[in-house]
Amino acid sequence: KNTRILVSACLLGVNCRYDGKNGRRDEVLRLLREYELIPVCPEQMGGMETPREPSECRRDGGRVQVMNRKGRDVTEYFEKGGEEALKIAKLYGCRYAILKERSPSCGSGIIYDGTFSGTKTAGDGMTARLLKAHGIKVVGESGISSLISEISSDMMDDNIKFTEE
Ligand code: SF4
Repeated sequence: KNTRILVSACLLGVNCRYDGKNGRRDEVLRLLREYELIPVCPEQMGGMETPREPSECRRDGGRVQVMNRKGRDVTEYFEKGGEEALKIAKLYGCRYAILKERSPSCGSGIIYDGTFSGTKTAGDGMTARLLKAHGIKVVGESGISSLISEISSDMMDDNIKFTEE
């Protein structure tokens, strides 16, 4: 059975980005030779239209809030989008995800800080955080090679377990 990887749809060339464009990356598309890629766009799945105002996450006490550039609280859409992406990951049995870096939904490790000034900060987008909390290994588009090595070593472990049983 092919390994399935959840992927941000904009990286595969879908025009789902806030500006109605995509962020197609050939190195992601090339993975189709060996893996099944399952596209998701959490912002669209959360009910947001395209194009839309860009949004950023910010911390409000312990809670993460997502605000769009016009100051509207859009957290609900982002939470819903994360839940929908998680449902699809579970439905297709994805243990891995390649998600667009720095997005307030998909970003992992580093995101924009909520000031709309291009300043980055440590943190995860809403979807990336939820997927990680459910045990899915999430990398950005620059982490593809490390993900591939991890997948191979997981497959070796799985084979060892299988032959031992
Ligand atoms: Fe791409 Fe994720 Fe933003 Fe959708 S939510 S446009 S998949 S970065």
